[in-house]
Amino acid sequence: MASEVATAAGAGVGAAVENVVIVGSGPAGYTAAIYAARANLRPIVITGFQDGGIPGGQLMTTTHVENFPGFPDGILGPDLMDRLKAQAVRWGTRLVEADADSIDLSQRPFRIRAEGETIQAQAVILATGASANRLGLPSEERFWNAGISACAICDGATPQFRNEELAVVGGGDSACEEAVYLTKYGSRVHLIVRSDQLRASKAMADRVLANPSITVHWNRQIRDCSGGEWLEAIELVATDDSGASEQVPVRGLFYAIGHTPNTRLVRGQLEVDHHGYLVTQPGRPETSVDGVFAAGDVADAEWRQGITAAGSGCQAALAAERWLTHHNLAVTVSQEPLDPAEVGEVKRTAESDETNFDPNALWQKGSYALRKLYHDSDKPLLVVYTSPTCGPCHVLKPQLKRVLDELGGRAQGVEIDVDADQQIAEQAGVSGTPTVQLFFRKELKQQFRGVKQRSEFKTAIEQLLGAAVS
Ligand code: NDP
Repeated sequence: MASEVATAAGAGVGAAVENVVIVGSGPAGYTAAIYAARANLRPIVITGFQDGGIPGGQLMTTTHVENFPGFPDGILGPDLMDRLKAQAVRWGTRLVEADADSIDLSQRPFRIRAEGETIQAQAVILATGASANRLGLPSEERFWNAGISACAICDGATPQFRNEELAVVGGGDSACEEAVYLTKYGSRVHLIVRSDQLRASKAMADRVLANPSITVHWNRQIRDCSGGEWLEAIELVATDDSGASEQVPVRGLFYAIGHTPNTRLVRGQLEVDHHGYLVTQPGRPETSVDGVFAAGDVADAEWRQGITAAGSGCQAALAAERWLTHHNLAVTVSQEPLDPAEVGEVKRTAESDETNFDPNALWQKGSYALRKLYHDSDKPLLVVYTSPTCGPCHVLKPQLKRVLDELGGRAQGVEIDVDADQQIAEQAGVSGTPTVQLFFRKELKQQFRGVKQRSEFKTAIEQLLGAAVS
């Protein structure tokens, strides 16, 4: 099999047969990458982009992670993921920041398509995680992003939910965490539980039951929702024999009803269980195809914790390394330098004011910069509305900065924290984060909601610049 190694690893993506490609960028994927990179295997991580949740995985949509060892005071989920990513990159992991379009395990090397290129890999680690489920209500599409959200942590701080009654559906840790979180913003939070008990951990359940701002509706299911432009009420029906039904007026409905494993790309190629989780050898990462390993929630219906995902990512990388070595397939590349530079603390953009505002800066923060640039700049202006705990904002901001870099100063960007600048967010009609508004000469030209491909922003700006010239 060694002869199948076409060229040495170490070339750019797509030019060689890679030792190992890791699909997915949650704690499982990045931990696998850290181990594989430190084993000099030069792994590639296909981080994903929109398919199956955001890059960084479910921790990107959590607030404080209090149970990941090593952080005695807790850490924000997105910050934890930023650190794991930086650690993987520090040791030589290469990132493909896109969705994998297809995975072909029928031939060796395996073939994975992403960003229009085919990557060949001797071994594959699947760490694609699981996606948030939806209820599938009759009016769900109508009120999606107009009151209904799958991420309280991302969207809770937006103005439409302030001092309003809100609802969370679900009875697990996510639902409880989100219900408590939303009491910061809403006047009351209704927790809709389909049975007579919470599945959440005792500590989390106790927090909910002790919170006077949360009303738990036991044995209730949501039949549908109603409203005008924005959600105004949900209809609850009893799941027990009482036959009861009622309208509860709410302006926000947040889903926290569990997840489905992301196995679409390997359907029919790997063994899955009756819930769709990848089947591995008991207690081990090997899947039903030799050389393909699984890590994290995609193969774990039971534990589903950040730390168990990270642990299984470690196992998968070690197993892949042994497998590559056993089959004489590994083409290792020594670290250069042996001790890569330290990552250090993440630098945050300071809020601009009259003392530090720079009319030519590519990226600034806050209402002062927004006012100045809106009135005085003749360049396209990207305004990104974020909130402090919004994981998707962590994903989007570097993409926007890259677009502005690539445009070499022909456009500028401002970040507005909707928590700190509530009034501005309200005036701008922002209904969730991240939202990006593209202005040109004081006119709103386009609005983007959620994480979008870099090319969409770039094309929109280039069109404005092109039209201005012609
Ligand atoms: P879970 O699968 O644990 O819980 C899903 C909840 O949604 C259950 O209460 C379930 O009800 C309910 N549900 C499912 N489908 C429906 C439906 N159609 N209608 C109404 N209710 C529905 O998912 P979580 O996302 O809460 O948690 C996933 C994992 O992540 C868990 O292991 C959890 O411990 C962990 N986690 C840990 C956190 C922390 O420690 N800080 C925070 C968040 C998650 P029923 O109980 O009746 O089945």
